[in-house]
Order: sequence, then structure tokens, then C-alpha cells
Amino acid sequence: MTDAAADVVTRLRAALGDRVDTTEAARHEARADKSGHAASGLPLAVVRAQSVDDVQQTLRIASDTRTPVVTRGAGTGLAGGANAGAGEIALSVRDMDRILEVRPDDLLAVVEPGILNGDLNAALAEHGLWWAPDPASRAISTVGGNIATGAGGLLCAKYGVVRDAVLGVDLVLADGRLLQLGHRTVKGVTGLDLTSLVIGSEGTLGVVVGATLKLRRLVPGTVCTVAATFPDVRAAATASAAVTASGVQPSIMELMDAASLRAVHDLLGLDEPTPGAAQLTIQTDGPAADAEADAIAATLRAAGGTVAVTHDRAEGERLLAIRRSMHPAMERLGTSLIEDVSVPRSALPAMFDEIARVEREHGLTIPTVAHAGDGNLHPNFLFSSAGSETGHEDDGTIDVPPAIWAAADDLFRAALRLGGTLTGEHGIGVLKRRWLADELGDDQWELQRQIARVFDPHGILNPGKVFAV
Ligand SMILES: Cc1cc2nc3c(=O)[nH]c(=O)nc-3n(C[C@H](O)[C@H](O)[C@H](O)COP(=O)(O)OP(=O)(O)OC[C@H]3O[C@@H](n4cnc5c(N)ncnc54)[C@H](O)[C@@H]3O)c2cc1C
Repeated sequence: MTDAAADVVTRLRAALGDRVDTTEAARHEARADKSGHAASGLPLAVVRAQSVDDVQQTLRIASDTRTPVVTRGAGTGLAGGANAGAGEIALSVRDMDRILEVRPDDLLAVVEPGILNGDLNAALAEHGLWWAPDPASRAISTVGGNIATGAGGLLCAKYGVVRDAVLGVDLVLADGRLLQLGHRTVKGVTGLDLTSLVIGSEGTLGVVVGATLKLRRLVPGTVCTVAATFPDVRAAATASAAVTASGVQPSIMELMDAASLRAVHDLLGLDEPTPGAAQLTIQTDGPAADAEADAIAATLRAAGGTVAVTHDRAEGERLLAIRRSMHPAMERLGTSLIEDVSVPRSALPAMFDEIARVEREHGLTIPTVAHAGDGNLHPNFLFSSAGSETGHEDDGTIDVPPAIWAAADDLFRAALRLGGTLTGEHGIGVLKRRWLADELGDDQWELQRQIARVFDPHGILNPGKVFAV
């Protein structure tokens, strides 16, 4: 460690005592998130903040010494955004996990950033309330991380994403100043909407140390589940677009292509699916759930699906468990680069055609699931890299071969051509920064960079993330 680096650690220790963890195990863990990608080298230290003041002190020292700071929630991100490397401070806010206020009358809660989404919702349920964003990682990811990535999930088509469910955030700037952005009111248009700017900013504008969340009352009534199989993925995608166009709003509409379905059936020990068959799993909820499920079933049958409807919640959960098992099923097949593009919902069939083309032209298998209700696809690029059976490096992180990136590049450009976007919910992080200007254009890319510099003039907040250096 250089003298300057040692000085930073000494100053952190003097200010924060044993909240500064310099053990090799802690620094090693802070290098990686769940993308499989890892930063090179070990961070100087992991600061485990327990209060807003801890965060402010860390940033003042970092600002004084021009030391980069990588904020971490639970480290479940899939874009490499929380990965801290050589010469950097990893600032974990995971221990700041209190619920400060719940107001059923105003439908809001004030929380610290480190609370897990699932824990928050368990506590809110006692008040008959919930915070709608529901990433599949809700049991293991933090609300602060959900805000910083602008997370989505299965229920988004009906109940919205994080951006629709945050009234305000408390933000510590790079120099340690604390800002309170947003409001506690339903309406509020005073000044520029900096809360929205912070949502999805991936730790580049400041550290979210508190959030005022917009809540919903738990949905009354029943939940119906509709499962439909189709001869191929294009037919399933066309049927999902027909459901959207019909005007009936499912709470969940998930699509699995044949390769995903086969892998999950194999994992769960279910009967082998019909070769080539793709599946839609759809839920309706609320007082009109039964009638909506019947209307959706009729649309799916007209689109050529073999359809089953259940009004039993447990059976519905069993059907959805097939979709939820995608991650472990892919892990059994080897290493995968989990991608995340979004297209307008009417373009889903065309996007699946593009994925089939990329598979053909690049000689790959790309099992794909989609949140079909909102047009968000997760293609999984399966590979094993040269010199390794699995694509994993010795330390468990992945080494994506250039041929896989070439195929991913082809797929990203196809999504953009169809009017889509590079990332629906996982963010840019390090993994997609090289494509950012392709979507934004040079002028907007430069403007966004300048905005980040206003918040962080010395460029110490998550440098190299989102914007390629
Ligand atoms: C099995 C699995 C399923 C998943 N399913 C989904 C899904 O359905 N939908 C979805 O959107 N994502 C999903 N993800 C991705 C991931 O869980 C989300 O991106 C989540 O929001 C990250 O939260 P985190 O607390 O783990 O954040 P981290 O991974 O710790 O950080 C993510 C980014 O946010 C920044 N950050 C974190 N906390 C703060 C803060 N307080 N202030 C400022 N910046 C901060 C970090 O610097 C980093 O750039 C999934 C991941 C896994 C492993």
C-alpha cells in the first residue's frame, strides 16, 4: 500500500473506528457483485456505515484525498456497478436498515437505504401496505440499491418500477453535504426533479442515505393464474402482445422460451416439455381478477395457445416457481452473461426473431425469459471460455470471451433498431458502458457526464461506472 493510501485508511480509522474493515476477506468480497464480473485489485477498505454522519465523514475524507468511493448495498447487482477495486473505498450502507416512519394515512414510509426490499415489505404488510417494486432479488437486495439501479420486477407492468414509487431521497454528495430531495406530498413540482435524476444513477451522483417511499394498500380480492403453451416462442410473444393490445391489464406476464423451459423442467424434475414449446405465465389480481383471467385465456386460445386457468393461489405460485427457477437452472448449464434489453411490447415477436438470428449467426444458444408485460427481455448468453471448462476464473468471477461480447453487441443493436433500450432494469455499470453513447448519442452522453460532474466535481463517485473513462 502506498503512503497516500495508508494515510486514507488511517484517517478513516480515526473518524470511524471499527466500522472500517481492512480484512482481506471483506475487501475481496467487495470486488464483485452477482454479475460475476470483478474489479481488479482489492479496495483499500470496506467502510460499514451505520449512520448518515458515517457516510458524510467517509466522503469528506475521500473528497480531501481524492479517493474513489464505490457505494454498496447488498451487492446483488448484475452490471458490476458495486464492484470496488484497487485504490478505492467500498462504502457499504447495508447496516443502515431501519424503517424510520410508516404513514398508512399518507401512504408513505421513510427508510434507511440498507433495508432489504423483502424485509420492508414484510413489515409493511402488518399495516396492510406494500412497496410495489418487486425484483426477483427482493429477499436479498436493498431498497437503496433498488433506487440506485432503478430496479424493476415481475409486477411492473401493472404496478410500476422504482421510479414510480419514490417521493424523495436524502443524498450525501461527494464533498459530504447532505441534500433532501423530493417531497412527502402526492403532488410536487418545485424546481427540477432531482429525485428522478438520482433514481438509476448507480452511485455516480451521491450516496442515497434515506428514502421517502410511495406505498400502496395490499390488493384485495383473488389472484388467478393462466398458463399457456405455444408451439414456438414467436407465437408466445405474439400472444403476449395481443394480451397487451386487448386492454386487459395482467399483474404479471412472464414468457419463457423453449431452452429456458427445458432447463427449468430438468432442474425441477418435471416432465420434459414439448420440443420447441414456449410458455406464458400470467396472473391477474384484484376484484376483477376472475373476469380478467377469463378474457386473457380467450385471447391466448385465439392466438393458438393451449391454456389452463387456476384460481388456486398455491397452484398459481407453483406455476410461477417455474419462472422463478430460471437463475439456478442457468447456473447448472455453465457460465452465463445475463442480459437485459427492453423493447416496445408490440416489438417482442420481432425481438425474438432477432435473438434466433443472433443464435444462428454466432453459433450460440441464448435461453431467454421476458417480462412480457413490459417488453423487458433477459437473454442468457451461455459459454465456457478458452482455457477453462466453465468460463470461471480461479476466484469464481467470469471471463466473458470476445465472441460472446460480439454476439451481445449484435443483440443490443437489434434492440435499439426496434426502438428499445440497452437496459430495462439492471443498469449500465461497467458491463454496458461501451454502448451507452450508441443509445444516447454524443450530445446527450456529454450532457449527462457534465451533470454528473456538477454533483461530483473531482469524479470520485463510482469512477469508470456508467460513463466509460
Ligand atoms: C437472482 C437475482 C435476481 C434479480 N432479479 C432482478 C429483477 O427482477 N429486477 C431487477 O431490477 N434486478 C434484479 N436483480 C439485480 C439486483 O438485485 C438489482 O439491481 C438490485 O436493485 C441491486 O440492489 P443491491 O442492494 O444488491 O445493490 P448493489 O448491487 O450493492 O449496488 C448496485 C448499484 O447501486 C449502487 N448503490 C447501491 N446502494 C446505493 C446507495 N445507497 N446510494 C447510491 N448508490 C448505491 C452501487 O454503487 C451499484 O452501482 C437480480 C439479481 C439477482 C442476483
